[in-house]
Amino acid sequence: MSAPIGSGGMDWGERVLGVRRYSRNGERAPHKPLLLLYALGRFRNEGAGPIEFSAAEDDLDRLLREFGPPRPTSPGYPFHHLTNDDRLWLVETANGGGSPGSGVGPLRAQRAAGRLHPDLAAALTEDRGLLARLARVLLDATFAPSLHADICQMVGLDLEDAELAVHARPEVVRRDPAFRQDVLEAYEFSCAFCGYDGWLGGVAVGLDAAHVRWRTYGGPDSLGNGLCLCALHHRLFDRGVLGLTGERVITVSQKYIARADTSRSNVLALSGRPAGEPQTGLPVVDPQHIDWHTRQVFRRPARAA
Ligand SMILES: [Zn+2]
Repeated sequence: MSAPIGSGGMDWGERVLGVRRYSRNGERAPHKPLLLLYALGRFRNEGAGPIEFSAAEDDLDRLLREFGPPRPTSPGYPFHHLTNDDRLWLVETANGGGSPGSGVGPLRAQRAAGRLHPDLAAALTEDRGLLARLARVLLDATFAPSLHADICQMVGLDLEDAELAVHARPEVVRRDPAFRQDVLEAYEFSCAFCGYDGWLGGVAVGLDAAHVRWRTYGGPDSLGNGLCLCALHHRLFDRGVLGLTGERVITVSQKYIARADTSRSNVLALSGRPAGEPQTGLPVVDPQHIDWHTRQVFRRPARAA
């Protein structure tokens, strides 16, 4: 069991993780975690004042488009529905009423504003390290690690604060230390998409062991869920620019636009190429995990090869 995150017997870590309960069956539901991260960033930079929906709408929309699942979601959805979670978020209209629902029209017209629940705001004020620990728990529980820095930057949180809170990671994100080495060896220290293989002083650099199905959504630390990718292709794979077919042919999102020759040769030209395979006899990527990535991460449709 991990230690409670908070003070006075209140486990705020457990509470913020409660917002993930709609992610059964591996369906990604990052809407409420994104709103909470956004609210934590606002709290860190501006204090506990109310956040008016119409002023936050564009920021939330952009966060949802960049880091939400491939299907579109209205910013009104988390803004309203987070009020149903246990003492985390309150919404009030200009005339003192409760949240008018998730429709953007009423949220705008009634000048609805949200804020962190006073209990949470008080706990954050009292315990200076709590904010970073909650941000860390939300990031670990919801997003692939390669996306954490981009999300922190967009919501105004300091990733270094969150890194300091690394001991606050709940049990579920413990990693198998052999995974990285096993995957890199299986693919002979070469990116499965482009073949990149750089070494510095006898150590492979710029190569990652990527999870096809994210660990936070039940992806195992096994070769059947691993790909050796260079840093660029890992990031683009986690952002849904790159994907795989069931036969492990590389796909590129039609929504991805690039003009420079380097982007074309490093990314667009991969479309339709077979991904590199592990050494003979070792397991290839399991089609079930590819299917999860295609449904939950890849920005459909794929370009024609
Ligand atoms: Zn690569």
